[in-house]
Amino acid sequence: MKRTLTVCPYCGCGCMFYLVSNQGRLIGVEPSTTHPVSRGGLCVKGWNAYAFVHHPDRLTAPLIRRDGSLQPVSWDEALDLVVARLRAVQEKHGNDAVMFASSAKATNEENYLLMKLARAVFGTNNIDHCARLCHSSTVTGLAETFGSGAMTNSISCFDQTDVILVIGSNTTEQHPLIGSRILNAVRKGTHLIVADNRRIRLARQAELHLRHKNGSDVALLNGIMQIIIAEGLADPEFIKARTENYEALAEAVADWTPERTAAATGLGVEEIIAAARLFAGAERGMIVYSMGITQHSHGVDNVRCIAALAMLTGNVGRPGTGVNPLRGQNNVQGGCDMGALPDLFSGYQKVADPLVREKFAAAWGVTALSDKPGLPLTRAMDAASAGHLYGMFIMGENPMLSDPDQGHARRVLENLELLVVQDIFLTETAALADIVLPAACYAEKEGTFTNTERRIQPLRKAVEPPGAARADWEIICDIAARAGYQGMRYSSPAVIMNEIASLTPIYGGITYDRLDPHGLQWPCPDREHPGTPILHLERFTRGLGHFSPALHQLPAELPDDRYPFVLTTGRTYFHWHTGSMTRRSHLLDREEPRSFIELHPDDAARLGVRNRDELLISSRRGQVLTTARVTDMVIPGVLFMPFHFVEGAANALTNNVLDPESSIPEFKVCAVHVEKLP
Ligand code: SF4
Repeated sequence: MKRTLTVCPYCGCGCMFYLVSNQGRLIGVEPSTTHPVSRGGLCVKGWNAYAFVHHPDRLTAPLIRRDGSLQPVSWDEALDLVVARLRAVQEKHGNDAVMFASSAKATNEENYLLMKLARAVFGTNNIDHCARLCHSSTVTGLAETFGSGAMTNSISCFDQTDVILVIGSNTTEQHPLIGSRILNAVRKGTHLIVADNRRIRLARQAELHLRHKNGSDVALLNGIMQIIIAEGLADPEFIKARTENYEALAEAVADWTPERTAAATGLGVEEIIAAARLFAGAERGMIVYSMGITQHSHGVDNVRCIAALAMLTGNVGRPGTGVNPLRGQNNVQGGCDMGALPDLFSGYQKVADPLVREKFAAAWGVTALSDKPGLPLTRAMDAASAGHLYGMFIMGENPMLSDPDQGHARRVLENLELLVVQDIFLTETAALADIVLPAACYAEKEGTFTNTERRIQPLRKAVEPPGAARADWEIICDIAARAGYQGMRYSSPAVIMNEIASLTPIYGGITYDRLDPHGLQWPCPDREHPGTPILHLERFTRGLGHFSPALHQLPAELPDDRYPFVLTTGRTYFHWHTGSMTRRSHLLDREEPRSFIELHPDDAARLGVRNRDELLISSRRGQVLTTARVTDMVIPGVLFMPFHFVEGAANALTNNVLDPESSIPEFKVCAVHVEKLP
């Protein structure tokens, strides 16, 4: 038996474990006892992370659509066709008529290469990835306020804090090892405030549980800040020495009295005051948030308010403090770091900056790089409908289930002139493709992933890929070579990382020989640098922290007589994203085998609905059949539905209205109608 130390393919905690294999087949997982996040533990997804790898559904050969069906072909035929058809679309409609979608499940090296392929070989900045769907509000909001859109502190800081405010994060289900760390801290005396109207597991241990209305986060945070200022609980020394624009914030929140905040949020005056006093009264306070904050049509404003609350109370730049956005997928931080974004190269270097473009063009051996910002992924579907986009190359993502308004996404994907999908399974998106390229999964290749605390960690190969499947980085390099580009020939991912380090200051000191055993946290600018567990120690990345006040705005779609319920969406403990891996892991699928919708007992009684009844849920965009789960997890008038399930796809209902600054969809609020089926 062989044990291979590698990184979990699921959430941003980035636990490391040993894949146990016997004669070329994975047979189990053992946690790493020394890893700073796992510390000998794993969640149920980690324990089962071997189960899908040898699933019979794995793609084993390239496929080309002929006579309406996907048929196996050689790599030569498939890749020559990819290049020829991408070029044909560009010749007909221009370079920006194609879009490259990168993957938060792929390695840093692969994200960097797809970014390079789009920009250097195909001459477009149309490159993006699923951070657009989860944390683009964070990237925009924290870049503006702090100068860096990443988690400021480390996971170990949960052991060193006095109070934790968790807002819009179901941490024990989505980031289980961080969730258990928070619960351990609470057991040892750390105060916990949970702001989320679902009665999530953490809420049951919290000193205060604020069940505010969906979409009222700005009102709540403004109200808390008003109390802190009015009661003299702010940190004037920190504000004076480290920040700017405080006066504008103070003015903006001044009329958010507890009474007005209570009216806007549905909370009681006393609980808002108690939350403000508890958070501001602590010596060290951490704020934790996730997609309950970001996935709104005003997600960037939510992030601005969180940053402001941390600065107002002096909770940045010390152990046990900070603004801590928990990144969803295992490498969504790395996807952003690697510049799989339409306006940024790796290390958040701006496409708009001519010196940056010159630097990358010289290193990549091309004469010039486009200065026109590319399309955000969430605007690609509309661009295709409007006749501006004709081809998509999608690596390791499944927009048919993950994008809002599934009907719209399907119509667009079906009508593209060219759809290429590179993945490990024939996902719902791959099934619509013209060309499908079979990829190796995390257990079958090398590379690095960057977890939510900016820790760059080595991924190691445990078994061979099935059939003709190849690592994403090898496929991308082969496409580049067939397109006539000579600057993408690498002998290994380690060599790709050397190139990344040479062009990306925050990764400047990263080499594979330094990543044993548990990686390094960026910024790591040179080979002697030990990595950075806490950001903004003496100064913010942008210099002074910037207070950016925000106005409370209602969600884009509110309940009415026809659609009287608010629907909010999310994930469950047992499944991950669009379920392509977890639904092919038999134990996980057994625990949560089908789509469901949570509704409050009062609503259920009014509608005559009982547990497990079949319901038809309708919105302005579509309908789904699902199963009732009657529970006080939700408040009256609000429904919760996970989006993992193709049968009962929550995103057939969701609203594709976008935050105007981050282009993130409003997954967390839409209006729906509920009908009990006979
Ligand atoms: Fe994997 Fe996240 Fe579970 Fe850790 S907490 S084992 S990284 S899914």
